[in-house]
Amino acid sequence: MNTHEYQAKEILAKYGVVIPKFCVASSLEEAEKALSELNAKDVVVKIQVHAGGRGKAGGVKLCRSKEETLEACKQLIGMHLVNNQTGPEGVVAHKVLLTEAVDIKKEYYIGAIIDREMARPILIASPEGGMEIEEIAEKSPEKILKLPIPLNGELKRYQQIHLANFMGWKGDMAKQGMALGKALAKAFMATDASLLEINPLVETPDQKLLAVDAKLSIDDDALFRQQEIAKMYDASQVSKNESEAKKHGLAYISLQGNIGCMVNGAGLAMATMDTINHFGGKPANFLDVGGSASKEVVCEGFKIILTDPSVQAILVNIFGGIMDCAIIAEGVIAAVNELSVKVPLIVRLEGTNVEKGKQILKESQLDIIAADGLADGAKKAVELLH
Ligand code: ADP
Ligand code: MG
Repeated sequence: MNTHEYQAKEILAKYGVVIPKFCVASSLEEAEKALSELNAKDVVVKIQVHAGGRGKAGGVKLCRSKEETLEACKQLIGMHLVNNQTGPEGVVAHKVLLTEAVDIKKEYYIGAIIDREMARPILIASPEGGMEIEEIAEKSPEKILKLPIPLNGELKRYQQIHLANFMGWKGDMAKQGMALGKALAKAFMATDASLLEINPLVETPDQKLLAVDAKLSIDDDALFRQQEIAKMYDASQVSKNESEAKKHGLAYISLQGNIGCMVNGAGLAMATMDTINHFGGKPANFLDVGGSASKEVVCEGFKIILTDPSVQAILVNIFGGIMDCAIIAEGVIAAVNELSVKVPLIVRLEGTNVEKGKQILKESQLDIIAADGLADGAKKAVELLH
């Protein structure tokens, strides 16, 4: 689950990260009130959406007067942002954050993630802030420090020193930076985060380190024990399809292509998307209907896939492990009949009782293209659209 910048900042502040003063507003009246509370000379207004890259898209505005600030709020409340982090339909900002403008001497990057290669949580830091970390990793990987975070969340003192040295912090800045690293690691572990990022972390001319931006994502499977954070869920930031899928226990992510995918198991869903790409096609979505897909779930899955107007073919790739392929075949037929699926449907079944499943599909007289294996299914889907 993603959170907004203001929520991430509230949480980080509790762990002792120093954040410039801020207020949140969802209307001009609230903005006016926030402005008097802030009592700052220059103000930065920022859209609150579940996406980064706001600065480049005009969603962050520096204002030098009350009039300018209110004008910026007027423009930014309700702003529709579409960029490479939002998906094609974009997201709408229902709130803005107002914060004091800080003098920036230098921007740094600091964050934490679960590193899949090291199979553990790590702290990532770079003196090259402002840019996206992926860009730094590509251009100058030697400027990135990775420190394993101890599982109790207590960054060791020697690690804090390593961090300060790597970032070039001396004297009081080193002290602030060490405390910041420690607080960040602690916050990351304590909130069951999958990502926590401060980008940029800013050094001011008077040598203060301030978290100017913050991003926090929580592992969905841990939300049951993060109830305070779970309440921060903002359905307005999730696409209709994704929130509908969530209701039915499906994992759905919409993508830019035109081949709809209905798959059981996240690993198989990834492999299916890879295979479609391999044959020159583009998947329209990631959809995992789960290990025990019932007829109803398959039906819901089809509904969600079909609401995407760019879908021109659907590839069903189901492995009957616990599930019986015969039941899946019946589910597919029921869904196709109920929803009058008009795009070509390619079905690959494998696993338990597969022969019976294939027979049921064949006997249904429906226009279903049977595939032998994943490669064959993906190839057929791609070829159909060429
Ligand atoms: P995003 O990452 O979505 O683009 P940021 O919060 O990182 O949004 O803002 C983009 C840039 O705007 C920052 O890198 C920083 O240079 C500038 N900025 C943001 N907040 C402030 C602030 N309070 N004072 C001064 N500059 C800011
Ligand atoms: Mg940022």
